[in-house]
Amino acid sequence: MRLTISILFLVILLPSMTAGNSGFRQEMIRVALFRGVESVRLDGNGILATDEKGEPLRLSFPLEIAKTRGGISVNETVLRGLKVSAPVFVNVNGKGYRGVIEISAADKGLQVINELPLEDYLVGLINCEISSQWPMEAIKAQAVIARSYAIFQRDARKNAPYHLESTVMDQVYEGCDIEDSRAARGVKETAGEVLTFGGSTIQAFYHSNCGGHTEASENVWGYKLPYLPGVACRYCQNVNSYRWEQRIPLRKVETQLKAAGINISGLRDIRPGSRNKSGRVSELSLFGTRGKVTVSGVALRKALGYSIIKSTNFELRIDDGDVLFSGSGNGHGVGLCQWGAKQRAADGFDYREILSYYYPGTRLTALAVD
Ligand SMILES: [Zn+2]
Repeated sequence: MRLTISILFLVILLPSMTAGNSGFRQEMIRVALFRGVESVRLDGNGILATDEKGEPLRLSFPLEIAKTRGGISVNETVLRGLKVSAPVFVNVNGKGYRGVIEISAADKGLQVINELPLEDYLVGLINCEISSQWPMEAIKAQAVIARSYAIFQRDARKNAPYHLESTVMDQVYEGCDIEDSRAARGVKETAGEVLTFGGSTIQAFYHSNCGGHTEASENVWGYKLPYLPGVACRYCQNVNSYRWEQRIPLRKVETQLKAAGINISGLRDIRPGSRNKSGRVSELSLFGTRGKVTVSGVALRKALGYSIIKSTNFELRIDDGDVLFSGSGNGHGVGLCQWGAKQRAADGFDYREILSYYYPGTRLTALAVD
């Protein structure tokens, strides 16, 4: 028993010791794995479980957890909250996660948060956001921007229960099962490095494919960031997903616009209006039976679905009661273009050059040691 405890202590102490040796600060990050789910199944080897106050619990695994009156039910025991960790990983709904898993009741269902060292999080993230088979300099660029984005969000959401969503709303994260040696190498070779502007870590937005020109931040989020002005990018054009098409019935477009709070009746025509510098549609006119409504390209894309209208860089025409969209690029277009970065890396640019291209005026800085 004593032996087991000292091994556990070693495992817990190890990450901070490693960080100390390599000379950068080891940050912790809190990621929301699930919100609003009805039940969660936990399993693993050598799991330590405590209640929300840190009192150890004797539980037999696997655990079936659901929301109940007054908290959560854990194999039929009612608790206010549950924290679990394991020497290597905890299995949550069939996927492995490092660090500590916290489960509590939310307004709807359960909330599952994963607190783990930032560098471990990044190793798992690489194969969610890109592929570790991409050139190493593209992996390193991805590691730096994901680290920068995470640090920025952590500071912005200091008092929130978690810092990051595990979806495209922030950064996709599906745990440690898809870690591999190339992902680990890209993270290690950039350990602790973030992009800064004027001494502060930047909000390092990025996206899949810019469609030829990245977008200025003010055109998507309404605020200007000096390091996100939008730059030309010729490097993402040889990708299958570069061009896309969608055919959507006008009636369906109208229903979805209404659901998003854009009131239009008897929609019969849509005309793209002004375009911004990157070529994306900034405004569209919607013609209905009671006149015209103007809507932004960003709002239209949100209403119809980000995976349906892949970017706001599109042309459209009306054909037999349907709207035919044809566009290029995938994503909001702000910051680094992942497919462009891949091509630049293949062309021999190193990750520093790739980053300074998509985030002009920024510096690569190591997180200071405490
Ligand atoms: Zn691009």
